[in-house]
Amino acid sequence: MNAPIYVQGAWFAGALLFIFGLKGMSSPASARKGIVIAGYGMLLAIVATFLIPGLNNLGLMILALAIGGGGAWFSAQKVKMTDMPQMVAIYNGMGGGAAAAIAAVELAKGDVHGTMTTTLAVLGALIGAVSFTGSCVAWAKLQGVLKKAVRLPAQNAINVILALVAVALGTAVIVMVPARPELIGLFFIAALVLGLIVTLPIGGADMPVVISLFNAFTGLAVGFEGYVLGNPALIIAGIVVGAAGTLLTQLMAKAMNRPLTNILFTPMVASSSSSEAITGTMREVGAIDAAALMRYASKVLIVPGYGMAVAHAQHKVWEMAELLEEAGVEVKFAIHPVAGRMPGHMNVLLAEAGVPYDKIFDLEEINGEFGQADVALVIGANDVVNPTARTDKSSPIYGMPILDADKAQNVIVIKRGKGTGYSGVENALFYTDNCRMLYGDAQPMAGEIIQHLKTMG
Ligand code: NAP
Repeated sequence: MNAPIYVQGAWFAGALLFIFGLKGMSSPASARKGIVIAGYGMLLAIVATFLIPGLNNLGLMILALAIGGGGAWFSAQKVKMTDMPQMVAIYNGMGGGAAAAIAAVELAKGDVHGTMTTTLAVLGALIGAVSFTGSCVAWAKLQGVLKKAVRLPAQNAINVILALVAVALGTAVIVMVPARPELIGLFFIAALVLGLIVTLPIGGADMPVVISLFNAFTGLAVGFEGYVLGNPALIIAGIVVGAAGTLLTQLMAKAMNRPLTNILFTPMVASSSSSEAITGTMREVGAIDAAALMRYASKVLIVPGYGMAVAHAQHKVWEMAELLEEAGVEVKFAIHPVAGRMPGHMNVLLAEAGVPYDKIFDLEEINGEFGQADVALVIGANDVVNPTARTDKSSPIYGMPILDADKAQNVIVIKRGKGTGYSGVENALFYTDNCRMLYGDAQPMAGEIIQHLKTMG
């Protein structure tokens, strides 16, 4: 596309704003500002595009913007914090789909591009189409529309065959200039089906890692299509998203101690099998005793997990922490990198409840402090505090770094019953002598503790 220099300059400035925005998102304190900066970058890039002289289909462009922008505006206002992962999945899928659609239009033009550009268009189409259908499946699973992981017989062989068919068709599109529309159509069908088939067997709880991977794919696809269109904003934005998505995928896989290939091709089977027998019994505690234990402690470390998110208990948890602080107790929040069901899940919820950032600590920062804590309060967390991960080589979570809650003098665990966590592994912490179980939904339980703390003064 022959855009005048002022449009190219504006696109470049937009791309710089994306980079500054991403930098802002590296800390919860500046994340909101980062999102706004990146938003301005996007606005600038869109406005600049409309300044290209002789643009066709202006009405259609504005209609598409109104539908996409309007839909996103309304759904983003309504979305609940716990539904964020599926929203990210569907928006990410739209990005991949848009990149594939750009490729479709460019390939349908026939032999207007050279081999290099056509190759990048095909690559972008393949990756973008996989990301589109894969992200749609991820959305359906997290939204509860698709309840079961569908695993075909010889699933991995089917994946490989489909991938080879898609690559072969893509190669044919590059070589046979100009490619016949039927061939281009078949190539797109193969790529779309590949995304579906690869993602269907993956369990809902693995989806955040998969979404992050598709996010990297979408970035790459957008970067390739940016090259095809000669648009530097798309190239830079695509590369930035691709690199960030790849790093995030690696970090999440590392924090779960599961290689990516394992997540994609050997879905985690919920099982309580373990070669280490857990001895002891779970002991119960009442809300009043839990409140007293914390009220007269010097230091309390709170470990939130998925259950806190499900129960929407973050506001009550912060209210409880404030009451403890007023009573002179030092309170800190310990966050595991994969607590909850998406990266930063706990940070987002605690920030929403108004917990100051300087009270929230990462695993590496806080783990040394559990030994000096009087109480570790585990709220709806399970796998991230399971000491089995340190010792039991046969456990699916072996090697996953955990929060050392068991090293606190007393541990109180709030959960509804004897349910296991996402991994399905029994938690040895719950059976230790220093641990007490406070059974109930996290929100009313935090509420009961608050009432008792208030009566204790
Ligand atoms: P978890 O191991 O899944 O455990 C959550 C616990 O919360 C359950 O044992 C459940 O026990 C309890 N719970 C559920 N609803 C509750 C409620 N309303 N009130 C009180 N408790 C409730 O959670 P986690 O410790 O946060 O660990 C996260 C897991 O997800 C890890 O295994 C991680 O690898 C995986 N994962 C995380 C991500 C990510 O990006 N964060 C991505 C993929 C996978 P009851 O049923 O007995 O109440």
